[in-house]
Amino acid sequence: MVDYYDILGVPHSATVKEIRAAYRRLARKHHPDVNPGDKGAEERFKKVNEAYEVLSDPEKRKRYDQFGESWRVADQFAAGGRGEPFGRPPDQVVDLSDTGLGDLLGEMFGRPGGHATSRTRRVRLREQLLEVSLQEAYKGAVRSVEVGALETCGTCQGTGSSYGTICPSCLGQGSALRPHRIEVRIPPGVADGSRLTYPVGPERLVFVVRVLPHLRFRLQGDDLHTTVTVDLYTAVLGGEVEVPTLNGKLFLKVPAGTQNGRVFRLSGQGMPAQQRPSQRGDMLVAVEVRLPASLTEQERELFRKLQAMRQGAR
Ligand SMILES: [Zn+2]
Repeated sequence: MVDYYDILGVPHSATVKEIRAAYRRLARKHHPDVNPGDKGAEERFKKVNEAYEVLSDPEKRKRYDQFGESWRVADQFAAGGRGEPFGRPPDQVVDLSDTGLGDLLGEMFGRPGGHATSRTRRVRLREQLLEVSLQEAYKGAVRSVEVGALETCGTCQGTGSSYGTICPSCLGQGSALRPHRIEVRIPPGVADGSRLTYPVGPERLVFVVRVLPHLRFRLQGDDLHTTVTVDLYTAVLGGEVEVPTLNGKLFLKVPAGTQNGRVFRLSGQGMPAQQRPSQRGDMLVAVEVRLPASLTEQERELFRKLQAMRQGAR
């Protein structure tokens, strides 16, 4: 076993301040986040933590100076012999509040809270915007969303310590942010601003729905508004026009003499009501009469005749 003083590269006479400085430098150098996939670095990091844990604690350091590597065993005998069987790595929970390690690491790696927050398992609400198309809002959908979720650290099983030292994977937090896939169920008729809540680890993730604008349909409550173009002859003589919907198409009967801008209500062709999807809003179809753009000489002549007939009829 390598001497703890050698691991930290400090003399046996080192002060707490020197030990702390040495630890800070080495932990930064060997931290697994800085050396991803480097097993050697992870091992060195564990050793550095172990050495710091002992040498930063005056009591532990005293016993280590006295008993060397068997200081833990001596510690267990002193505590009444209720120790682990020999040969098994010591697995005690490091009390971070004693060593100040949690604060130190939090300070070093910009992670807030260290000890206190990881032990206070409050259910946190986190909001995330979920943009859905009008089509998805109409029919309902299942959206696979990847989010970062706080999960129990696999290295230390949530204890925050590993082999008697601070866990190198979660820095003693007991939990770590991991990618997590959620199948978000978007109910038919979901309204803009709806909140869909999913438990993600110890948190609750709230998806705030934003229904995106559609090129053809405008949503107002449960009603859908749209516009169809109707040619002059159909508007004058009457007929049928095709109306696209979010669910295929419909045919609208246009009565003779339909004015430009007239609105037809197709009842039950709107959005499903969010609470009762069997009920639907209406579709409001505004007619936009399109005049023939370029007339042949013959057509122009016929329009003149129509005009003359109209003037004669007055
Ligand atoms: Zn851990």
